[in-house]
Amino acid sequence: MSDTAYPAPAKVNLWLEVVGKRADGYHLLDSLVVFAGVGDCLWAEPAADLSLAVEGPYAGQVPAGGGNLVLRAAHLLAEAAGLEPRARLVLDKRLPVAAGIGGGSSDAAAALRALSALWRLEPDEGLLLGLGAALGADVPVCLYGRPALMAGIGEDLRPAPALPEAWLVLVNPGVALSTAAVFQARQSGPGGGAFSAPRPIGPAPRDAEALAELLAGRRNDLEAPARRLCPEVDAVLGALATTAGCLLGRMSGSGATCFGLYATAAEAGAAAAAIAAEQPGWWSVAAPILGTPD
Ligand code: ATP
Repeated sequence: MSDTAYPAPAKVNLWLEVVGKRADGYHLLDSLVVFAGVGDCLWAEPAADLSLAVEGPYAGQVPAGGGNLVLRAAHLLAEAAGLEPRARLVLDKRLPVAAGIGGGSSDAAAALRALSALWRLEPDEGLLLGLGAALGADVPVCLYGRPALMAGIGEDLRPAPALPEAWLVLVNPGVALSTAAVFQARQSGPGGGAFSAPRPIGPAPRDAEALAELLAGRRNDLEAPARRLCPEVDAVLGALATTAGCLLGRMSGSGATCFGLYATAAEAGAAAAAIAAEQPGWWSVAAPILGTPD
């Protein structure tokens, strides 16, 4: 297998506010998106036809065939380039599935990058983002691949303000949550899907504590409906809150994965280990926020 690995890191919504809804039913979002130093990994090498092998701890939970977002990305890119899709792809699936951390979207973005390189396409960035958007609302931000302020339905991306070094503990209770079901629960729940008002973001936070303060003024509007569908989210947030050094705990995306924010690698590592020891059935990992100063 080629030695160029394309990482597909976990996407984390540090906040996610629903600010409107389009006539076609898509929700308009205001989200601060970052990537964590943990994720899936994709390899691509030349072959006579197109194939995908999925390995890793969550391989059994994703479609092996044409439904896999990696293969859908390959077909879409080949069609746009007027090529026959030919590649042997291997995906190491390490992120829980339907978990609010964009595993499938990140895989699709990695596939677009890996196959652009393998097929020597050098596509225009705008074209690639458009192909990404056709695969899923979170694929463009995964192609962007660095801290971003995300608006619209996911296609409106701006660089986030500079973020300080900070660590995340990602915890998933092993319950899959469908994004559509969470949006439906929000619509039919208290408040009937009322919208948050878009707000400007202040000065760049200088350290992890200031980042936590900034985040505390924002929210994940999908957290309450996700908690109604999946009470385990409460247990995860409760477990994070009891760990030393946890500056803030919140759900990412449509859940059920939640993150804790920490100032140091040592605190995050200890917290992840303590939660894993307490709840061996949960996925609990410490990872830095990528794209912050070393
Ligand atoms: P988001 O945070 O973008 O809402 P998510 O993390 O909740 O996404 P994913 O893990 O991306 O959800 O999975 C969403 C669905 O996509 C799953 O039902 C899964 O079967 C399907 N899927 C297809 N290909 C993949 C893939 N490579 N990895 C994960 N899921 C995939």
